[in-house]
Amino acid sequence: MPQDSAPTLLREGSPAAPAGPRRPPHGAAFDWLDEARDARRRAGLTRTLRPRPADHPLLDLAGNDYLGLARHPEVTRGAAAAAHRWGAGATGSRLVTGSTELHARLESELAAFCGFEAALVLSSGYTANLAAVTALTAAGTLVVSDAGNHASLIDGCRLSRARTEVVPHADPQAVGAALSGHDGRALAVTDSVFSVDGDAAPLPALAEVCRTRAAALLVDDAHGLGVLGEGGRGALWAAGLAGDADVVTTVTLSKSLGSQGGAVLGPARVIEHLVNTARSFIFDTGLAPAAAGGALAALRLLGREPQRAARAGQVARKLHDRLTAAGLVAVRPDAAVVSVRAPSPEAAVGWAADCRAAGLIVGCFRPPSVPDGISRLRLTARADLTDDQIDTAVGTILATAPAV
Ligand code: PMP
Repeated sequence: MPQDSAPTLLREGSPAAPAGPRRPPHGAAFDWLDEARDARRRAGLTRTLRPRPADHPLLDLAGNDYLGLARHPEVTRGAAAAAHRWGAGATGSRLVTGSTELHARLESELAAFCGFEAALVLSSGYTANLAAVTALTAAGTLVVSDAGNHASLIDGCRLSRARTEVVPHADPQAVGAALSGHDGRALAVTDSVFSVDGDAAPLPALAEVCRTRAAALLVDDAHGLGVLGEGGRGALWAAGLAGDADVVTTVTLSKSLGSQGGAVLGPARVIEHLVNTARSFIFDTGLAPAAAGGALAALRLLGREPQRAARAGQVARKLHDRLTAAGLVAVRPDAAVVSVRAPSPEAAVGWAADCRAAGLIVGCFRPPSVPDGISRLRLTARADLTDDQIDTAVGTILATAPAV
């Protein structure tokens, strides 16, 4: 139909347009975004998406593929076979059609590997954290949350109806003090390894203060699985807390396991409760079979090749020692994340760009991703980096370092 003859459109200024106040121009509802964009530009905080070429020659110290498994042939074969067998998508939520034998196998093998009674696989580590925090709390619950926690735990607290008290970073005494004034149900939440600085939470001390007050402990082990604990069994295993009846942990399948997805691990009665009440589990399409198949293949590979876990930590410490010896300020890594201080957000962005131009991809953290306002380069120490690659990475970072 020619546009002119469209019967129902009233154009501004046309004789048929109703009289009255002038209508704002089309798109005016989003005019405020231009101001927000300009403010971001002025502060040097604009983020842009850059597609990653499949076979780029750059050295990658920015991704979270800690064990170098994302492109391992066994893992990609596991993913491809799962897609062929079960389809490209899960087709529905886990409680309807989205659960396959593969999901069940992944859950039981993941729980056994990490030493927990049961596991529940979700579509991401993010939704796993939302599920754990919201399902284990209610109005009247006190949540005590470390100031350095990942955004997904923070969002879980925001979504829950609980009262959240944020306590200073890695401070079991502060957790104890927050818990001591509370009578009802309580949950302490912490990352095991903090994603910005790569330092570890004092898990045994946290578990102890929680136990004395009958509080549950939820630990996000996104950066511990595959790196910490015997053969990469995670931070809870390393702390002697795997399978503890008062402890729940979440993991992601997207870092050490080189795939995608997340899981909650804990006592069977906790997992049963999540299946029945966790909204980010119930109302979300199940994890894609390819992601479950890839993660399962990676988990089995890690079981056969436990040395991969220790190597990631060694690479991180080597990077740290070389950079600090050269005068840079870096946090001593407890796992595979190395954080190097930059003098300003602009300097961090420029430093990361110079590294990239010289063939090295590094992460760049600046406000608002960092709560303390200190910008950093973030390096991930992959187990499959060779000594030559470590030399190259260190050389590039030092050669491009901004003057302080
Ligand atoms: N927790 C932490 C500590 C993380 O670093 C991340 C990923 N950046 C997540 C949870 C979320 O995991 P996913 O990417 O699988 O959603």
